[in-house]
Amino acid sequence: MYIMKNINQFEKANFETLIKADGSEGLEDRLNILDVFLGTEEHVTLEQMYLLLKDKGYHYEPEFVRRCMNRMVDLGFAQKKKFEGQPIRYEHRHLGRHHDHLICTKCGKIIEFTNEGLEKLQVAIAATQGFYMLQHRMEIYGLCDTCLSQRRPLLPLAMAKTGERVKIREWAGGRTGRARLASMGLRLGDHIEVVNNTGQGRIILGRDCTRLAIGRGIAYKILVSLDERVDEQVCKDNGQAT
Ligand SMILES: [Zn+2]
Ligand SMILES: [Zn+2]
Ligand SMILES: [Zn+2]
Repeated sequence: MYIMKNINQFEKANFETLIKADGSEGLEDRLNILDVFLGTEEHVTLEQMYLLLKDKGYHYEPEFVRRCMNRMVDLGFAQKKKFEGQPIRYEHRHLGRHHDHLICTKCGKIIEFTNEGLEKLQVAIAATQGFYMLQHRMEIYGLCDTCLSQRRPLLPLAMAKTGERVKIREWAGGRTGRARLASMGLRLGDHIEVVNNTGQGRIILGRDCTRLAIGRGIAYKILVSLDERVDEQVCKDNGQAT
């Protein structure tokens, strides 16, 4: 965070030097827009920029914001992104730093990633054709974790088998059930392991390093989906696998 702040201050000063050549009119307003833009890590649309500015008490004409954003692109402080099925977005352009994107086609979520091996591979592939790569765009379209889990069928926890890993998704138990669950330390979205479910009596669950016993009645009201995460869950306290 501290480093980001320094970078932002540096970028702001750098931008100021360059836009002074455009004339001093609206200089402060343009710096305010840059400041708000650097303050978000999102890939923002013009509309979102307009709202972020409004939140900070700046009421600029959308056209002014648009021109200013495009000037930032020209000067290399921002880059314009057009992901399929989405409006134009702007994101930071930090010199010498590159990243690629995963885009959820259902909710529009954008996830950034960098992979050095993939970067090198792309250069190598281009080179096999005698091609010198200048830039590239790697966009992976699909479903994010949340959207994916919403497509998986729900089943009552009471019907999950011993050894299965499940994610708690929904409540069918009304308000009191919710409170009871919370009192057991469980929440929606929790990833749990069914340690023992004999089909009768209480069900033993494992979450992090703890085993929990819950009644069969309530286990019918907890709706879960099978968890497809393959990572080995490791007890954080003592490093032993649960
Ligand atoms: Zn890349
Ligand atoms: Zn999604
Ligand atoms: Zn990005």
